[in-house]
Amino acid sequence: MAPTTLASLTTLRLGGPADRVLVLSDPTDWPDIVRAVHEQGERAPVVLGHGSNVIASDAGYPGTVVVVNTRGIAAERAADSTVAVTVQAGHPLTDLVSWAAAEHLAGIECLAGIPGTTGAAPVQNTGAYGQQLADTLDYVTAWDWQTNRLLTLPAHTCRLGYRHSRFKVEIGRWTVLSVTLHLTRTSQAAPVTYQHLAAELGVPIGACPTVSEVTAAVLTNRHRRGLLLNPHNPEARQVGSVFLNPRVTPVQAHRWSAAGCPAHRDTDGQLRASAGWMLEHAGFRPGDTVVAGVRCSAYRSLTLVADHGATAAGFTKALLRLTGRVAASTGITLRPEPTAIGLCKQPSEWCPDSGT
Ligand SMILES: Cc1cc2nc3c(=O)[nH]c(=O)nc-3n(C[C@H](O)[C@H](O)[C@H](O)COP(=O)(O)OP(=O)(O)OC[C@H]3O[C@@H](n4cnc5c(N)ncnc54)[C@H](O)[C@@H]3O)c2cc1C
Repeated sequence: MAPTTLASLTTLRLGGPADRVLVLSDPTDWPDIVRAVHEQGERAPVVLGHGSNVIASDAGYPGTVVVVNTRGIAAERAADSTVAVTVQAGHPLTDLVSWAAAEHLAGIECLAGIPGTTGAAPVQNTGAYGQQLADTLDYVTAWDWQTNRLLTLPAHTCRLGYRHSRFKVEIGRWTVLSVTLHLTRTSQAAPVTYQHLAAELGVPIGACPTVSEVTAAVLTNRHRRGLLLNPHNPEARQVGSVFLNPRVTPVQAHRWSAAGCPAHRDTDGQLRASAGWMLEHAGFRPGDTVVAGVRCSAYRSLTLVADHGATAAGFTKALLRLTGRVAASTGITLRPEPTAIGLCKQPSEWCPDSGT
């Protein structure tokens, strides 16, 4: 039987063969997965959900890849209007958000339309439209491949920040098996804090539409801005934003804001500037080819699309070309958002001086 390629497991559709691919569909099979990994003499596997935020090496991966495909939501009333919702790690995040809207549960409505699994969401503290997983995360249950134990990690131990967590740094140590959130049963969503969303809803910042209205508006806005993953679209081979919004000093924020660059303070209080604006400032427009087979999306420069003939090496080269040009034109180092499989370094290590 032909080996499974990482290309078939990732949205970029790049990456060579993996030695072994194990799929976890039933949570009770987890001990079998652990045993199978150890029988191969490996300390830990590579873990994948839907592969929507990874770049896999053309050479593939010489070891075990575990694809987490478990499904299921269990809701339990905690106190007053709070509901504790435990979700299996392989459950699609979009399905969870739709379920919550139907149940009139607020807290994750702005995450509508984000590709990927619920178990991957704590890895980069998935967020959009002014909301992030950290807002509602209570704890995750995760297998610790370092101590070979199943642990419950309360949210405050996960070191969640802007597109960041301990899981993104302690690569290979953890497999998230379930995620528990606290959602609020209410007809109203949290106040709208994000301008694009307020405009889509036709309401002022601070308004509180219903959870379903916010979910629908987020999906419409994401569609309009090319932020939905449509497998039938020529833009389908992508990982969303390829760079984090970079940290900037107050002086840099002032300088670049004056030049028109959107800047904001993230939930950690850190000033950040728009990576997308910087790419355009450096001369990369939507649709521009960066290297052969890799171009900026037709919607936005911050998303790179793999076309016919693309390779992971080419994609990596494209990221380095973009960071080089932005550094030359602004003095600011962009840091890639996706993680890597089988590359000798994580993309974040290419630019060690820039922080998260
Ligand atoms: C069109 C598009 C739009 C996007 N929009 C957004 C957005 O608005 N906001 C945002 O934050 N992200 C966005 N993303 C990025 C991506 O959707 C998220 O990072 C998502 O959480 C990845 O889920 P996944 O299941 O595909 O993870 P994968 O790509 O499979 O994995 C990502 C990382 O998480 C690890 N991982 C996966 N599952 C587990 C697990 N169970 N336990 C431990 N580690 C695990 C992997 O090893 C890898 O390091 C977008 C991507 C695309 C393609």
